[in-house]
Amino acid sequence: MKKGVDLDKIVGDFRRGKTSATGRLISIMENGGPDAEKVLEKILPDIKGVYRIGFTGPPGAGKSTLIYNLASHFRNEDEKLGIIVVDPSSPFSGGALLGDRVRMQNLSSDPGIFVRSLASRGTLGGISNCTDEAVDIFDAAGKDVVLIETVGVGQSELAIAEKTHTVVVILVPESGDGIQAMKAGLMEIGDIFVMNKADHQDAEMAARELEATLRMKDIGEGEWEPMVIMTSGLRGDGIDEFKEAIDLHRKYLKESGLMKKKRKEMLYSRVKSALIDRLDRRIRESPGIMEL
Ligand code: GDP
Repeated sequence: MKKGVDLDKIVGDFRRGKTSATGRLISIMENGGPDAEKVLEKILPDIKGVYRIGFTGPPGAGKSTLIYNLASHFRNEDEKLGIIVVDPSSPFSGGALLGDRVRMQNLSSDPGIFVRSLASRGTLGGISNCTDEAVDIFDAAGKDVVLIETVGVGQSELAIAEKTHTVVVILVPESGDGIQAMKAGLMEIGDIFVMNKADHQDAEMAARELEATLRMKDIGEGEWEPMVIMTSGLRGDGIDEFKEAIDLHRKYLKESGLMKKKRKEMLYSRVKSALIDRLDRRIRESPGIMEL
């Protein structure tokens, strides 16, 4: 951050609902350092613990397409959305996906939706390092729901479960996705499983197989039973059911007290990682130690 940036002014604009200030604050958070800490301190009282949904699954499964479809359903209920997607320049997502990303950016023409792409910064797979910070900004901006899309590669995508209230795993009938998902541990973290590309002939069978696999999970009394939904993001089929499943899980979280519990856990892990970052910086900035 260059000298002379007036944080108070940007935060003031942000509080008055100026969209460009939201973008600037996220950039400041992305850059890290003392300015990021100052911003966090200023907005802390406005952070309420916004409801977050994580979308994961292999590249090309249809995550962006489905998020695009879902967005209007949330907007119909007048919920304000923050959407975080990982930078398309990431080596994990091919250029062919750009069209869908552009479509997603088009959502931003609705003042109730803010789409932000974050660089994955070499984190293997999953999510950007500053996802938490971007969510904090959306939270303080008064968004009702934040949707987070992972790149969908690698182990670290499992981390999405620690950062969100509801985890949606998106799979496709082709290429034995179900088995891959099991291997990758996605079966453990998913609350809602979506068999997308239901326009493919094998979709029904793949969904039934997935259900059979999920039934083998040990589910305790009163615990959430993962749901399987079939959609076609391309045709817009099954999106109503998908949204209903999300609403059901949200209601379950509230009524079971898990929403509060997860909020506390997320706050704990945020504070912990902030402290580790600060300590790490101190160590790196301490010449004595680095020369050892
Ligand atoms: P992501 O990488 O998981 O975000 O996947 P995208 O949303 O970018 O979709 C990957 C490709 O699959 C795009 O070309 C989409 O148009 C296509 N796609 C998405 N949903 C469907 C679907 O339900 N059926 C079919 N046939 N194609 C789809």
